[in-house]
Amino acid sequence: MARVLVVEDEPAIAELVALQLRHAGFDVCLAADAEAARVEVDRMLPDLVLLDWMLPGESGLALARRWRGDERTRALPFIMLTARAQEADKVAALDTGADDYLTKPFSPKELLARIRAVLRRRAPEALDVAVEVGGLRLDPVTRRVTRRVGAADLEAKLGPTEFRLLHFLLAHPERVHSRSQLLDRVWGDHVFIEERTVDVHVKRLREALGPLHCADLVETVRGAGYRLARPARDAAA
Ligand code: CA
Repeated sequence: MARVLVVEDEPAIAELVALQLRHAGFDVCLAADAEAARVEVDRMLPDLVLLDWMLPGESGLALARRWRGDERTRALPFIMLTARAQEADKVAALDTGADDYLTKPFSPKELLARIRAVLRRRAPEALDVAVEVGGLRLDPVTRRVTRRVGAADLEAKLGPTEFRLLHFLLAHPERVHSRSQLLDRVWGDHVFIEERTVDVHVKRLREALGPLHCADLVETVRGAGYRLARPARDAAA
């Protein structure tokens, strides 16, 4: 389930948006200003942020710039919400690295469509869509991990953490993820869990993928972290 942080100081709008998002199956948390937003992001890196431009104190724009300048939040997807509709404002918002931009008032339908579009591009593991790399397929709806080998569909038995880990890796193939990034995105906590925990679960994941003949899909990148490699013939396809 995708975690969405709504940063909005007008309670009526914040609650309405939260209601619509929860109804659509998102896990929502709220922040009324930049400081509260920072606390929420520190506590748990969301999959996406809806960020109001005009906030009391530090503006949404300034907060966005700060996020883009920080290692941990550099890739945090966010959609800017604003009452402004000037082209120069839109350009300023996109220049901070906003993934999209919505002018108030917006319809719930449009908001949801744009959120899904950003997540599909930036955090597909947050959506309930099947992912597949090198014939290895994970379906978040049925919670099955399968691979066709010859005429047989082989199924892997994964624990809940290994399942989430594989889901994240399959959604972002070829990229190297540090242990700290994996703790953030898979465990939802980069502070209180030891990085060695990642190694333990990668080992279990490889063991579980052994019977499907793809234990070597998850590569160790020395000094950097882990990567799910796309097999050569898959990349050519
Ligand atoms: Ca506002």
